[in-house]
Amino acid sequence: MKIPPILLSLPFLAGAWACGPADGAGVPDQSGGDPDSFVAGDSTQILADLEILSHDSLEGRRTGTRGGALAQGYIRSRLEAAGLEPPPTGHLQPFEFSGRRDPTQVTRGANVVGFVEGRDPSLGAIVLTAHFDHLGIRAPRPGTPAEAEGDSIFNGADDNASGTVAVMSLARYFARYPPRHRMVFALVDAEEMGLRGAYAFVEAGWPEGIALNVNLDMVARSDSLLFIAGTHHYPRLRPLMEKVVPRSPVVLRFGHDQRGVEGMQDWTGSSDHRAFHAEGIPFLYFGVEDHPDYHRASDEFEAVEPAFFLNAVRTLLVAVKTLDEELDSITSPVSQTLPDGR
Ligand SMILES: [Zn+2]
Repeated sequence: MKIPPILLSLPFLAGAWACGPADGAGVPDQSGGDPDSFVAGDSTQILADLEILSHDSLEGRRTGTRGGALAQGYIRSRLEAAGLEPPPTGHLQPFEFSGRRDPTQVTRGANVVGFVEGRDPSLGAIVLTAHFDHLGIRAPRPGTPAEAEGDSIFNGADDNASGTVAVMSLARYFARYPPRHRMVFALVDAEEMGLRGAYAFVEAGWPEGIALNVNLDMVARSDSLLFIAGTHHYPRLRPLMEKVVPRSPVVLRFGHDQRGVEGMQDWTGSSDHRAFHAEGIPFLYFGVEDHPDYHRASDEFEAVEPAFFLNAVRTLLVAVKTLDEELDSITSPVSQTLPDGR
């Protein structure tokens, strides 16, 4: 792939892009596996990844565009640098789909997938997902300040460069500290066009079965709150996540996973976890509430508060570690759904 000149012209961006197979070389991890220390040591890479993926030169990462392909290439290079293994068909999982309005219009996307082998092969895989695509370049709309000033690139820093970057950091962690479950890191395409990449991933399946999906979508923009959705449908997961609450540097709150709760939208179908839930695969979704820059050109790197984002990554790492260590201690079927669940 050709790297846009603008990226190469930015020295630290080019350096991050060019990071070789020995990822983190020169910055040895001193954490000993402690999540807080690990994220502190990884923070420079985390923020560099976020700035690159939400850079104007990636043109809003719309599926099927040059910017989308650049994002795929960058994410792939980061997974390779972390030492992740590719699935038998390679790190790229291409798929295509027809337009809703015009069935003759075919769009091609590709998920970027890697995994870390688990220590206990009898356990199923835990699949971490985050969509990397966003809305691309759009005509300015009246009444939106950034667009009125001529900004037509929808950078999607929070939605969802943030989740993508968090998954890549967790991939670096588990490549260094092998998990019990096989841990699959799936950065999926075409979420904004109808969760197409997630459905393609689920349809392709995973050899030993999927024990759980953990989906991240918008985890960087909040004063303090990060939500966990999914325990309404899969209540046996809740005690595991309640253990994470007191250890979390951000305020973790359960919710947004059922209808009829005042002031809370139901996010059960709102992002890629829906494709797993539709097959009865348990999920947990982490995300923030909508903010004024949601789906606007002003969802930019500069608007992200690094302290919240890094604390969110710490929380996510603790949560996924807890799930990896204790998921099989849930003796009853994890997929038991409450009677009014959908
Ligand atoms: Zn999103």
